[in-house]
Amino acid sequence: MTKLNSKIPDGPLSEKWSKHKASLRLVNPANKKKIDIIVIGTGLAGASAASSLGEMGYNVKVFCYQDTPRRAHSVAAQGGINAAKNYKNDGDSVYRLFYDMLKGGDFRAREANVYRAAEVSNFVIDHYVALGVPFARDYGGYLDNRSFGGVQVSRTFYAKGQTGQQCVLGTYSSLLRQVNKGRVTMYPRRDLLDIVVIEGKARGIIARNLISGSIERHSAHAVVLATGGYGTIYYLSTLAVNSNGSAAWAAYKRGACFGNPSFIQIHPTSIPVLNDFQSKLTLMSESLRNDGRVWVPKEKGDKRIPKDIPEEERDYYLERRYPAFGNLVPRDVASRAAKERCDAGYGVGASGLSVYLDFKDAIKKQGKKAIENKYGNLFEMYEKISGENPYETPMKIYPAGHYTMGGLWVDYNLMTTIPGLFAIGEANFSDHGANRLGASSLMQCTGDGYFILPYTISDYLADDIRTGVIPTSTTEFDTSEKEVKEKISRIMAVKGKQTPMDFHKKLGKIMWNYSGMVRNEEGLKKALVLLEELKEEFWKDINIAGTADDLNQELEKGLRVADFIELSKLICLDALNRKESCGAHFREESQTENGEAKRQDDLFAYVAAWEYNGENDPILHKETLKFEFVELKERSYK
Ligand SMILES: Cc1cc2nc3c(=O)[nH]c(=O)nc-3n(C[C@H](O)[C@H](O)[C@H](O)COP(=O)(O)OP(=O)(O)OC[C@H]3O[C@@H](n4cnc5c(N)ncnc54)[C@H](O)[C@@H]3O)c2cc1C
Repeated sequence: MTKLNSKIPDGPLSEKWSKHKASLRLVNPANKKKIDIIVIGTGLAGASAASSLGEMGYNVKVFCYQDTPRRAHSVAAQGGINAAKNYKNDGDSVYRLFYDMLKGGDFRAREANVYRAAEVSNFVIDHYVALGVPFARDYGGYLDNRSFGGVQVSRTFYAKGQTGQQCVLGTYSSLLRQVNKGRVTMYPRRDLLDIVVIEGKARGIIARNLISGSIERHSAHAVVLATGGYGTIYYLSTLAVNSNGSAAWAAYKRGACFGNPSFIQIHPTSIPVLNDFQSKLTLMSESLRNDGRVWVPKEKGDKRIPKDIPEEERDYYLERRYPAFGNLVPRDVASRAAKERCDAGYGVGASGLSVYLDFKDAIKKQGKKAIENKYGNLFEMYEKISGENPYETPMKIYPAGHYTMGGLWVDYNLMTTIPGLFAIGEANFSDHGANRLGASSLMQCTGDGYFILPYTISDYLADDIRTGVIPTSTTEFDTSEKEVKEKISRIMAVKGKQTPMDFHKKLGKIMWNYSGMVRNEEGLKKALVLLEELKEEFWKDINIAGTADDLNQELEKGLRVADFIELSKLICLDALNRKESCGAHFREESQTENGEAKRQDDLFAYVAAWEYNGENDPILHKETLKFEFVELKERSYK
């Protein structure tokens, strides 16, 4: 049975990382050339890790399912990236960023990891500037900042509403530099389908070439998963439609523990569901809440157009309920508040499932040009999708699945419970606790890839300098490949009537209804039954058109949905086990008199790390969270 060892170094918080770094073993330049590393994923986490490891002298192979690394989902990030630079002189510091993140995550993350993420944030910004990322600048030419939810300082660096895209161009250029130097080999259009474990260590992968359909073996001394989050489990989400959980699921089935799978962030400001034919939802960045005011009519079912509703008949419910943070309360709080208003009958739009995000006052105060400079592309996107001009009428928004704080459990070195298998970026569980604060994912992904993993992985690889090339002709590779091929043959052979999308939609509805913004015991138990039924139906009635030995996007989707159905079960089990409310995980049974999340620190101050146990229920391991440097307090934004 797996034993968790978080490997958190001793000593004062602010010295843990530097002391730990200094104690890690190195691999000398001549030996690095003898070592292969596989990196799966080319988002900000994967591309930054791969380029750093290439620069260091390792042989790196990078995989992604897109046709170019540049299309990784990170391009979608809009609002910005945090760093504790204190450029605004508003009292920011590494400690404050650390505290905001820990509190924002409702004290369900490791102090040491969160502090380190805050500590390296300043290097991340400097590095991006050096890579030429065109962050917004103020009139004097200094880097500009804005604010995000759950904080009272301005620490978010941004490039209009396209921060992710600009950062991806930075990491992509550093990646291509290594490709050009021959240190990194790119394998686009590949799907990782299994991790190969030899003598207890991750030593390679089985991948499907998405163009030819052939199954490939790739070996390495270590494997890094930077495969992003699984928020698409809800079918409709703000993520790229192809984002999925299959790589993490494959790792889980080979022995990597899954940490806090039920911690999934629902973002408050998405363009609402318009009809049943949509394949995704579009985010309106949290940065908009710097200037936009959220409201609903004070009267139930008020159908007047917004400009006909006078000021005194509007309920700016976030400002009313949370005067200290107003419209910039954290995402979980804002999402639940929107749901509460809509459930109570105050929602707007045809379905009654939206609230207004209004820029009237900001435009009046700052002028249209200033607003356009900050959010122009978001306004344009909104108008294209909704047909309404947000400069003239408020946006309609509603919460949607967005980000997964849960993921593969990793220790302080970012290594999973399979030695040699590392997980970075959104794919790991680590730094955001039960709720991620805005703009801290890009920061964490890049920090992991450029500034943390390169140190910790070398310590692990120091034992491999005499190992030599890992052959792909071993029985472990044979077995993995055979199992992958059998799964593909099985899904192809069903020849039922429903497409992967049909099943994904059904799955999404179960998860949204019973394991979405609000959860309770009865609903979660019901979801577990429905998921079992869905799994059975899937394997009787899935229809994958075409053949397996060719380009086949239905097959790609089918395999991902099959994994999602299994992962959903783990999510519901985890949500059922955690009887407290914390961050985005809101158990109706555990709330304060005012309807806020009620943590139960005496019972649940732990990371739930689940170990795969075949057909039996997974085994729950608890990593107790020790808080030596902060006092656990009720999270309040009032
Ligand atoms: C609309 C939107 C806006 C956002 N805005 C912000 C923001 O402003 N600030 C912020 O901090 N965060 C933001 N986020 C969150 C942030 O964008 C993500 O958390 C982050 O980009 C994840 O990066 P990553 O490198 O971990 O993974 P990703 O960028 O998701 O990349 C995953 C990579 O893994 C590869 N991959 C996955 N599975 C497989 C497989 N089985 N086989 C092969 N390859 C695989 C993919 O090809 C891809 O290259 C936003 C998220 C969304 C959805």
